[in-house]
Amino acid sequence: MNEKTLLIQSGKKLLHEGFTVETWGNISLRGADGLVYITPSGMDYDTCTEEDIVVMDLEGHVVEGSRVPSIEHGLHRAVYAARPEVNAIVHTHPIYSTVFSAMGESIPLLIDEAAQALGDQVRTAPYALPGTDKLARACAEALGQKANACLLQSHGAVCVGKDMKSAFKTARVLEMTAEIYYRIRSIGGQYIPISPENIAAMQDFVAHKYGQR
Ligand code: 13P
Ligand code: ZN
Repeated sequence: MNEKTLLIQSGKKLLHEGFTVETWGNISLRGADGLVYITPSGMDYDTCTEEDIVVMDLEGHVVEGSRVPSIEHGLHRAVYAARPEVNAIVHTHPIYSTVFSAMGESIPLLIDEAAQALGDQVRTAPYALPGTDKLARACAEALGQKANACLLQSHGAVCVGKDMKSAFKTARVLEMTAEIYYRIRSIGGQYIPISPENIAAMQDFVAHKYGQR
């Protein structure tokens, strides 16, 4: 499947899997050509077509497409520049994760799926206006070199992966973890932290041994 078709399908997934409402959020891919393919700004994911996708270089010059690109193209480019292994970024506006982002809190790796899929931690980047360089820098900093997800204060989440499948896996695991954390806190409970040794063991297992040979 080519990059543009994958982005169109992914936009529908973003909307219909409950990762956003209306036209919020955005998605991009780093193509085999090294260019960034990104969703257009403020367009309905259900009616977007391949022609609406904007292609840019890492410096932000548009090389293809006539639509205004997502206002977060600087954020997507900053993450690609900082993380060579990342080839897909999904910016979501999910309910439970945003509960914690609005409180400026991090989400702990409190379940096995989180320890296996989210990287080293899920930090909240300090508030900055949407579409600004300040938000782009804060996001790249919150992700660091190892996190696969971070939160943007009072805004949403940014989930990354080596490809689109893995970026969506990050998005699903993040929101599931946030919902479990919310439920624990709602009943006044406390989670038992998974030890750093066990987190490291799971990450090693997933990277080298999990699944079919
Ligand atoms: P765009 O429609 O420009 O992608 O903006 C949506 C959004 O979520 C901004 O943070
Ligand atoms: Zn947003």
